Amino acid sequence: MPKNNNPILPGQTIGIIGGGQLGRMMAIAAKYMGYHIAVLDPTSNCPTSQVADKQITGAYDDRQAIKELTETVDVVTYEFENVDLTAATYIEKKGKLPQGAYALEITQNREKEKQLMKDLGLPIPDFAIVTSGSECEEALKAFSFPAVIKTCSGGYDGKGQIKLNSREDTQQAVAFAEKNTHCIIEEWVAFDKEISVVFTRAESGEIIIFPIAENDHKNHILYQTQVPARISEDVQKKAYKAAEKLAEKMNVVGTFAIEMFVQGEEIFLNEMAPRPHNSGHYTIEACNISQFAQHIRAIAGLPLTPITLLAPAAMINILGEDLDGVLKALPKVEDGFVHLYGKVEAKSKRKMGHTTFIAETREEIQSQISRFEEAKR
Ligand code: AMP
Repeated sequence: MPKNNNPILPGQTIGIIGGGQLGRMMAIAAKYMGYHIAVLDPTSNCPTSQVADKQITGAYDDRQAIKELTETVDVVTYEFENVDLTAATYIEKKGKLPQGAYALEITQNREKEKQLMKDLGLPIPDFAIVTSGSECEEALKAFSFPAVIKTCSGGYDGKGQIKLNSREDTQQAVAFAEKNTHCIIEEWVAFDKEISVVFTRAESGEIIIFPIAENDHKNHILYQTQVPARISEDVQKKAYKAAEKLAEKMNVVGTFAIEMFVQGEEIFLNEMAPRPHNSGHYTIEACNISQFAQHIRAIAGLPLTPITLLAPAAMINILGEDLDGVLKALPKVEDGFVHLYGKVEAKSKRKMGHTTFIAETREEIQSQISRFEEAKR
């Protein structure tokens, strides 16, 4: 594993497991610094391979492909949490996975994730784990509604969960639990806002936190992130403290994100991601260092850069259905930093890119967004 006295330096090669947009933006940050990039992904011409030096085309759990990646590169990172655990452990044992396998093990499983938060005394919604329809029916008797049932593994962007509005939804939940076997039921938090804490931890244990982001979702998919988040100093302190506690306990290295609900002056932790996060994309233009560049510094064993927010920002995701409008607006407006990820097919609800707006005031950002929206028509 790279230590500060043995860092990975430009000219050496970083391997990335997963060739999506997060891998692509990590790779771009690393290329700026002069690193070489190899990516492992089953799909050729994936977003990361378009900016990488080399692609190993193979499944994430293909032993041969993992071995080839490990042998080709000086350090390995991952861009998503569903990395095969056997593969991650293999790379870690070879001393080339500073992020470690443990953070994956926890974040791949909502039960382990919530249990760890609970063990650390962190505020979370009440929850119950159920492994069958009958256990679900029994557990729901003790819940007030609304509640939500989620699969313990494999869910993202609202997939693999249903909101239970009233006791009448019990049978729907029972069928869901019967089908998915291992599920978590959570109390529904009537939150005022959702925030995320994106931070980076170095191998030395140093933690540097990006400004907290305020997130709006549409159809369970992140729609917009605004920075700075409109939260009190007290909420900010609570969020920082929770993030530091988790980071230290999990011994994470690299950029990491924790999503939280804010209700009044209270926070409730929702979920975490052991990698750069959609709600941290604003850092590319709005901070002196991006979540991706800081991630590269951490996994390369370089000291972290102190963070400055250069200006307030808003980031809006571009989904498949928005792409034509964005391309229409681009030649007409001056504002908005458009990032497209090079995905070949613009499917509905698929994240194709994002646009970041920065300005001195929130009002000016809002006017930029309105002008952009107008130009899309
Ligand atoms: P998740 O996949 O857990 O991040 O959930 C996706 C979205 O569903 C969250 O960003 C929230 O908007 C909503 N959600 C999930 N769990 C809860 C909860 N316990 N209370 C309120 N809203 C929730």
